[in-house]
Amino acid sequence: MSDVTLVDVTKRYGNVEACRGVNLQVADGEFVTLLGPSGCGKSTTLNMIAGLESVTAGDILIDGTRVNDFTPFERDVAMVFQQYALYPHMTVAENIGFPLRLHKRSKTETAARVHDVANLLELGPLLDRLPRELSGGQQQRVALGRAIIREPRIFLFDEPFSNLDAALRLRMRTEIKLLHARLGVTSIFVTHDQEEALSISDRIAVMRQGIVEQYGTPAEIYAAPTSTYVARFIGSPPMDILSGSLEQRDGSLYYVVGDAAFPISDSVWSSLDPATPVDLGIRSEYVHLTSVDDGTPATVQVVQPVGPSTVVTTAWNGGSLTARAPGMADIQPGTHVGLRLDPSKLLFFDRETGHRLR
Ligand code: ADP
Repeated sequence: MSDVTLVDVTKRYGNVEACRGVNLQVADGEFVTLLGPSGCGKSTTLNMIAGLESVTAGDILIDGTRVNDFTPFERDVAMVFQQYALYPHMTVAENIGFPLRLHKRSKTETAARVHDVANLLELGPLLDRLPRELSGGQQQRVALGRAIIREPRIFLFDEPFSNLDAALRLRMRTEIKLLHARLGVTSIFVTHDQEEALSISDRIAVMRQGIVEQYGTPAEIYAAPTSTYVARFIGSPPMDILSGSLEQRDGSLYYVVGDAAFPISDSVWSSLDPATPVDLGIRSEYVHLTSVDDGTPATVQVVQPVGPSTVVTTAWNGGSLTARAPGMADIQPGTHVGLRLDPSKLLFFDRETGHRLR
């Protein structure tokens, strides 16, 4: 069991700064995900933790020991990649047992451990098959087995499910959570899929252009993004960000966007500096549809039923917002509706810096 700390870790490839002072603390037994769009430095960060890439500047600590100059073997980490990289001529049992044979463990010990790991991953009936006789999901489970059998201090996962179809990816998420709950091994997982990150992580590090933009629990990242970058990257549909202005009309306070004026509370008003332009962010589940005379008027543009809810895109002269109606709602494009925003769920961002103000 191990904790991992990155202190101001930088990686340069010639002129490219893949990581620019990454700071990260992963507690013993924690499941942490590095999340961000392609090219933001996730794999580079993971590879430096694994010892597959050198560090240009900064320190990587495992259990308090600086491991910058340790080989991957000395760091005692196991990595699972997107490409399963199984040996095609070896059976499932031989693939899983390979790391133990490499370390000259006895045949009896290897067979017993292969048996245990195969049971854990429900691969028991497949032990005599060759990789080409397995589905993609089964192959990925064998790759997991080969990582688990070593009993490493840390698991590192680089987009391990991205080659699997959508249904299988969902199942593998559940499996990896169960596995982590059983083994309790510190794990660092890379993905560009925000939903995957939200569903499997204890904490998420959202990366942007080589830095960690926000580090927090899925609940914190989702409900309290510290910037418009994180707000827009997390959630499906992503958070709507409106560019309007704070205005006082007839003694009441509003956030005005084109023809629409959304009421806001005194406490919001008093906490913001009227001289600083602010953007308003709100998630679709806090945008409620009412009758046209009961809320801010808008017209339904697009209706997308997704099962448990219906995602409804609305617009008015000068703006647009996505609402979410419960269930498979019977709403038609062109309908005139009223919009009510949950006042306690409004987020305000500095328009210039993108940082959240409240
Ligand atoms: P991610 O995993 O988030 O997609 P990477 O860590 O793979 O991002 O890459 C981060 C940046 O570093 C990208 O701009 C990428 O092109 C660059 N990069 C990664 N590996 C190398 C390399 N071996 N040589 C040069 N540039 C690289």
